[in-house]
Amino acid sequence: MNDPRKLYVKSFGCQMNVYDSRRMADTLAPHGYAETAAAAEADLIILNSCHIREKAAEKIYSELGRVRRLKEAAAAAGRRLVVAVAGCVAQAEGEEIIRRAPAVDLVFGPQSYHRLPELLARAARDGKAVDTEFPIDDKFDHLAAPSAAATRARGVSSFVTVQEGCDKFCTFCVVPYTRGAELSRPVAKILAEIEHLAAAGVREITLIGQNVNAYHGEGTDGRPWSLARLLHRVAQIDGIERLRYTTSHPRDMDDDLIAAHRDLGTLMPQLHLPVQSGSDRILAAMNRRHSCADYRNTVERLRQARPDLALTSDFIVGFPGETEGDFAATLSLIDAIGFSGAFSFKYSPRPGTPGADMTDQVDEAVKSERLQRLQAAIDRNQAAFNRGCLDRTLDVLFERRGRHAGQLVGRSPYLQPVQVVAPAALIGEIAAVTITDIASNSLFGALAATPAPVFAPEPALAGAGA
Ligand code: SF4
Repeated sequence: MNDPRKLYVKSFGCQMNVYDSRRMADTLAPHGYAETAAAAEADLIILNSCHIREKAAEKIYSELGRVRRLKEAAAAAGRRLVVAVAGCVAQAEGEEIIRRAPAVDLVFGPQSYHRLPELLARAARDGKAVDTEFPIDDKFDHLAAPSAAATRARGVSSFVTVQEGCDKFCTFCVVPYTRGAELSRPVAKILAEIEHLAAAGVREITLIGQNVNAYHGEGTDGRPWSLARLLHRVAQIDGIERLRYTTSHPRDMDDDLIAAHRDLGTLMPQLHLPVQSGSDRILAAMNRRHSCADYRNTVERLRQARPDLALTSDFIVGFPGETEGDFAATLSLIDAIGFSGAFSFKYSPRPGTPGADMTDQVDEAVKSERLQRLQAAIDRNQAAFNRGCLDRTLDVLFERRGRHAGQLVGRSPYLQPVQVVAPAALIGEIAAVTITDIASNSLFGALAATPAPVFAPEPALAGAGA
């Protein structure tokens, strides 16, 4: 039997890309490809690109410079290295990638990766292949399921894509252009995938989508199901002990989904709910379709349902037209909500989006200075949230060994990393841990003699800035 060909996949950006990269590896496994962590020994390198962050395309081109040298070294050693660019930059740039980086053999968008074996054959036959169509068929129908061994190697926590694309058209965002219109997977297919993961030992599932709470897939009764209904059904799968979902849009937090945070014990008390800005004027310019008051009202309802809910968010500073007053409103919102963490970025125009054509762009130096102040406010909130966990006993799902001998690393219900001296047999298990220390946003603790309380909201956790 031939040795497996070696596949090296590098993911950029969000968890959707991490999931897609894994599914690409699963798709190629039956075709004789085994994953490697060493790019230098690969026969196929896939760069799975992301277009959200600043200078995304430039990062891919500079990575391609390194990959070109690997390709030359492979050729000198008599080996053929095939280079592919996937994901949102591939979707946006198409053939331009091959024109600028001739070492690339294959370019394909996020809706085409189920056709990878066929595209590789086309590239081998024709020299190059480009596929950035939005095909009518559902790529998920054509993807191979991961083997039990591959699933176990990826850990006890797994992402499952339930929804792709977005119809919201925020003026700063490329997703509606690169990932296309909203598409929800049917419930039966999602359940089959999660049952397969649970049977291989996965304990925690995060349902993912660019606008996950707009989920409206066909249910097992043939009618559209909401995300809340899907979560209730997934919670019944044997072996699944924790559920999360991301990323949500504030407008799509409906009553049933909010109630699920009260009623569903497996749904973890942590939610990523991007707000982007605390200024109504900027939210309108961003076409976010919600006001600051709408957001605060949603958070209040969520906290009535689940008082200890840990909220994280995304912020963009320096969106065109943002004044010091708009920015101050964002800082006040951060302190009013008491986020347990957040991602924050300076606005950078994405070609083809309405924001890129706005004339009142903010000076770079102003953006940098605001970003620093914003991050200081988030750090303060996060530290307050973490301090609220000290001396509490929390359930921790152990994921892997830590850096130090005898230490394991797991996640709290609030998604904080927790480091504990504990036997390796606890990997994949949930155990009660008393939090004894905090450093650099990691919690440290000791196995507790008594179980964690089932539901123990602490006033300190309801909002650091209150
Ligand atoms: S809702 Fe999210 S994915 Fe959709 S356009 Fe807005 S930022 Fe992009």
